[in-house]
Amino acid sequence: MITEYDAIIIGAGAAGMMCAIEAGKRGRKVLLVDHSKKIGEKIRISGGGRCNFTNLNTHASKFLSQNPKFVKSALSQYTQNDFINLIKKYEIKFHEKKLGQLFCDHSAQQIVEMLIKECELANVTFKKEFKVADIDKDKDQYIVSTTDEIYSAQSLIIATGGLSVPKIGATPFGYEIAKKFDLDVLETLPALVPLTFDEQLLKMCKELTGLSVEAIVSFNKVLFQEGMLFTHRGLSGPSILQISSYWKLGDNIKINLSPKENVFKLLENKKNLNPKEEITNIIGDILPKRLAHIICHENKVTGNISELSNKILKQLSHAINTWTINPTGSEGYRTAEVTLGGVNTKELSSQTMMSNKHKGLFFIGEVVDVTGHLGGYNFQWAWSSGYVAGQYA
Ligand SMILES: Cc1cc2nc3c(=O)[nH]c(=O)nc-3n(C[C@H](O)[C@H](O)[C@H](O)COP(=O)(O)OP(=O)(O)OC[C@H]3O[C@@H](n4cnc5c(N)ncnc54)[C@H](O)[C@@H]3O)c2cc1C
Repeated sequence: MITEYDAIIIGAGAAGMMCAIEAGKRGRKVLLVDHSKKIGEKIRISGGGRCNFTNLNTHASKFLSQNPKFVKSALSQYTQNDFINLIKKYEIKFHEKKLGQLFCDHSAQQIVEMLIKECELANVTFKKEFKVADIDKDKDQYIVSTTDEIYSAQSLIIATGGLSVPKIGATPFGYEIAKKFDLDVLETLPALVPLTFDEQLLKMCKELTGLSVEAIVSFNKVLFQEGMLFTHRGLSGPSILQISSYWKLGDNIKINLSPKENVFKLLENKKNLNPKEEITNIIGDILPKRLAHIICHENKVTGNISELSNKILKQLSHAINTWTINPTGSEGYRTAEVTLGGVNTKELSSQTMMSNKHKGLFFIGEVVDVTGHLGGYNFQWAWSSGYVAGQYA
């Protein structure tokens, strides 16, 4: 026996739930399924348990995609303010942490509960631990089968997310379905992920574990000025996570450890005004002492500043203002927040998120080749793309 719905959504994460709510509100009979035991796990663990649910500065320029204009339509159909209004309706308290990033005051679980409540109000049928065995198309109906049940619907929405953090349920399912229906899928890579380094740099990172500095981290013309963290595994923190989405294996990244100072100019002045001052103390006034000590040691610089040639001072300032490093890789999907690449946007309508080739087949959220910067943009993409598909599914 086949159970009929108007729309079947696979993946009850941020995008899938938003789509279910919107389609349900339109009176569509919606089935929302997920293979996990728990709904919205990524929302629950996001933002350190407080969920950075959107960003006040949401704009197409904050997203990576082979077609950077693709996001514009969805982001304008459902904006950050629309989601903020939903949060306010549920009296969920929130605050701006920095750079327009909005976080819950209390717990990300409040957002999961809000979305579940909205799904219930929209009469969405939930099925957890739902293992899809096969998906097919019969005339204008999509057929979704498990080992013992068969469901059909005019609209099939794939919202199974990317590959990051497999231990909470990420799978390549969405990409496989796209390929099955002959849609192009772009190469996927872990993004917003800590980078790894060779033994020498790792030794330095280990010695500095826990230290955080404000830095400008750049790759080619892209730069981010945010915190950078030394850890026992390498470099992390917002600026490193951001650049990881742009960095290409084999290439260098540049780090300015003292964005506010032109260190060479400062050292030249010091040499004239205070020639007896110890170089490690001078650098220790610009950078945290532990870091200053290591940089002076690595560059074999000691003694009074008057004893050091301008060539040496230039080398030292270069090591601070233009520290050039060559990551050996990234920590991969285990710790990545998102996945770069995915279903090629040229296969989808930016107005509706529906496949251009297959009427009624939609892809939303992270499974699509749209990746936001760190700071709430990835959830905003999930809400916006989910909302849009919900108007048409
Ligand atoms: C640790 C962490 C912290 C993050 N913090 C933030 C943040 O603060 N702000 C921000 O904007 N972004 C954050 N992100 C990114 C954000 O969580 C994702 O971009 C967003 O959840 C994508 O939404 P989605 O609905 O497309 O996919 P998901 O939320 O990943 O949902 C996909 C759903 O599909 C289900 N699924 C997968 N495969 C199958 C299958 N075969 N059958 C059935 N169901 C399946 C999964 O169980 C899951 O429930 C974070 C990510 C991580 C990993």
